[in-house]
Amino acid sequence: MASVGTVRLFPIIVSRFALDGGAMFGIIPRPLWEQTHPADQQGRISMVARVLVAQFPEQGRLAVIDGGMGPGRDERDRGRYAIDGQTPGIVRALARLGISADEVTDAVITHLHFDHIGGFVVPGSSGEGVPTFPRARYHVQREQWEWANDPSIRDRGSFREEQIRPLRTSGQLNFIDGDHTLFPGFQVLNVGGHTPGLQVPLISGKTGTVAYPTDLIPTSAHVRRSWIMAYDLFPLDSLEAKVRLLSRAVDEGWMLLLEHDPQVASITVSTDGEEFTAHPCVCPAVL
Ligand SMILES: [Zn+2]
Repeated sequence: MASVGTVRLFPIIVSRFALDGGAMFGIIPRPLWEQTHPADQQGRISMVARVLVAQFPEQGRLAVIDGGMGPGRDERDRGRYAIDGQTPGIVRALARLGISADEVTDAVITHLHFDHIGGFVVPGSSGEGVPTFPRARYHVQREQWEWANDPSIRDRGSFREEQIRPLRTSGQLNFIDGDHTLFPGFQVLNVGGHTPGLQVPLISGKTGTVAYPTDLIPTSAHVRRSWIMAYDLFPLDSLEAKVRLLSRAVDEGWMLLLEHDPQVASITVSTDGEEFTAHPCVCPAVL
């Protein structure tokens, strides 16, 4: 557990899986990325979905940022992504903290890719998916919502209708346009790049700021400017957004919580004026 002022933060690994290493590191040659992220026989690297639970006692809010991969569609899906069925999903992980699903007030969707919202939907009594958190508002950038409902041929495999439909019909969506303060101490920045309307949550309190850079900086290796995923639809926008975000992180001493890095949960960042370097934190507990 970490904290920012009175806000309590619980980064929790809710999924373990694997993705193609080449796709994760874009133009970076394999001998470089393999030093820190060794590939398996199929060229995949280990990944986690580390979601963030944030309790805001002063505001009476309980937020969950991203929902993880979910259990996978079927055996073929679980095999392709090496989904580890032993890792407790978001509901069991919350239960271990003594939190029930109906206490969650805010579910923040950084974007709608299936490894980020899989846990935000659970099977309902009719077999159709229903939102995992019945009382929560689900916050998503409008730009991302519209894109995900009509994606390009290139990225349509990243969105799953069976995960998006229950959110569409729930009446629980809150559409955000651009940078926005959800409530005091909790802001989102619309950074795009990876996908239109990718949003980065920022939690600020008296003792500092924690950012959750989601797929803009999925692992600590991605703080380097040209280490940009091949998945990104607009890599030059990612580059610009990353430099802007990391420059603020250096100037303001932010901690960054990394969603997909299996080894490094959180970092601070320094710069020599050009390139950025990640410094793993003496980490908050990783459950
Ligand atoms: Zn993504």
